[in-house]
Amino acid sequence: MSGILSGIRDDFPALAQKINGHPLVYFDNAATAQKPRPVLEAIQRYYEHDNANVHRGIHELSNRATAAYEGARERVAQFINAPSTKDIIFTRGTTEAINLVAATWGVANLQEGDVILLTELEHHSNLVPWQLLAQRTGAVLRFIPVTGDEGTLDLSDLDALFRDVKLLSITHISNALGTINPVAELCAKARAVDAVTLVDAAQSAGHLPLDVQAIGCDFLSFSGHKLCGPTGIGALYARAALQEAMPPYQGGGEMIAKVAFQSSEFHVPPHKFEAGTPNIAGAVGLHAALDYLDDIGRENIHAHDTELASYAKDRLAEFDGIRIFGPAGDRGGLVSFVFENVHALDLATMADQQGVAIRIGHHCTQPLHDKLGVPATARASFYFYNTRAEVDRFIEVLQKVMKLLS
Ligand code: PMP
Repeated sequence: MSGILSGIRDDFPALAQKINGHPLVYFDNAATAQKPRPVLEAIQRYYEHDNANVHRGIHELSNRATAAYEGARERVAQFINAPSTKDIIFTRGTTEAINLVAATWGVANLQEGDVILLTELEHHSNLVPWQLLAQRTGAVLRFIPVTGDEGTLDLSDLDALFRDVKLLSITHISNALGTINPVAELCAKARAVDAVTLVDAAQSAGHLPLDVQAIGCDFLSFSGHKLCGPTGIGALYARAALQEAMPPYQGGGEMIAKVAFQSSEFHVPPHKFEAGTPNIAGAVGLHAALDYLDDIGRENIHAHDTELASYAKDRLAEFDGIRIFGPAGDRGGLVSFVFENVHALDLATMADQQGVAIRIGHHCTQPLHDKLGVPATARASFYFYNTRAEVDRFIEVLQKVMKLLS
């Protein structure tokens, strides 16, 4: 792996800096990834040469901007093996994508007593929109339980879990524990009871090969910023057949075909769901990020991330009084933990003083943390530009901190 990745860190200006006099060890990749030069340059090039508003322009720059924006849509479709560009709706990110599904498909299709099946692992982005929808429609939320600190799903009684389910919405990889969920198997089960399915791929899209047709989901969402793209851009895969029957999300320019004073006719999907001037530069940056990742190879990224997570987990296990969360086997590229006698905030603050960036808190999975019986965990999350030497440095810093605090 190091052969494939040698020199790759030079592409990331942010990684070369010192923090408090120490080389930055950036282990907060599950929150957001750093950006390589090709992404930064693509955005700059777009603004310097092609900047204009998209669609309906009769001038060169508008044509170029439209080609760049629609080219990015094509690239996203290819990245997740969607059958058509019509299946791809640009959003601000995962959160907006899930809210879009709740506000359109959800409001049009769910009724009192219908069950929305989630897991206990969900990020608040894949929980709160469904709570709001449930309050509005009378639908009810049900949760696939997780088993203790390992955080894998308890699938022992699938028939009972899927009774009356109209929507299954689940994370692919847990941002809190690193659990990789069997999404294809669960989507197949949902299809068997005619339920619609959504996969939250925020933590998986940039970390392993994704194929929406192999997964068999109706919707899938991800954010550009977690896979080396810019913030403020993401995508929703929505099966074209479902989009046809979905009401619009927001009203405004771009999403209409004909407007009169009292009513409007809407554009065809996916444009019907993209009101207003879109994030064109964001789409350009996202396109560059997807190219960058595929040059490395997502199988390689997955192998690297999981190897690093497993190494970090083994090294963390050297400490006394540590509780490590997440699956024993395969996991995404992160590890979460708490120390019996050290507050997570003290730990992260002191690690930062040594240049090590980790995240502490409930990681937007408060109900899961309630279930685990901890208010907060510390999380180190990795990407392809991280190294074993950085894990060693992280452990060395933790050893120092533990000595100081105990
Ligand atoms: N789902 C998961 C699993 C996540 O990790 C995140 C980001 N932490 C989100 C959803 C929300 O993503 P965003 O904030 O980019 O919309």
